[in-house]
Amino acid sequence: MGRTSMTRRYRFCAAHRLHTHHLSEEENWAVFGKCNNPNGHGHNYVVFVTVSAVDEGGSSSVVSLDELDRIVADRIITRFDHHDLNLDPEFVSKTTTGENLVLLIWDLLVTQLPAGQLRKVGVIETRDNYFEYSGPAPVGAHS
Ligand SMILES: [Zn+2]
Repeated sequence: MGRTSMTRRYRFCAAHRLHTHHLSEEENWAVFGKCNNPNGHGHNYVVFVTVSAVDEGGSSSVVSLDELDRIVADRIITRFDHHDLNLDPEFVSKTTTGENLVLLIWDLLVTQLPAGQLRKVGVIETRDNYFEYSGPAPVGAHS
């Protein structure tokens, strides 16, 4: 039997620099190229949040659109919009790659939604780069 879901799109703008202290300056440049520029650079991130359209857990209610918007605004947009991602506490020891960002957004949302409601999180970083995650909750990969 098929399952229905609903995806909502959000946006935020943020700066970052791809850099890891585990590598030398030369190695960082080799791995991240111009994204390792010390001055950083910005992206207009697009975030797709997919939730179940029906209550599949049998115990929890389906999140309303207003509620989802409020949660995403509180947990994601306020936190990242017009911020430097490298200064975010969760990125102190992690590189601000799209992979790490999508995992962090998943973790920030999944604990706020009724169990089983969050299906997938997608992040568009550049015209050609899209990252997504759907999985068990929470990931905790960013700790
Ligand atoms: Zn970048």
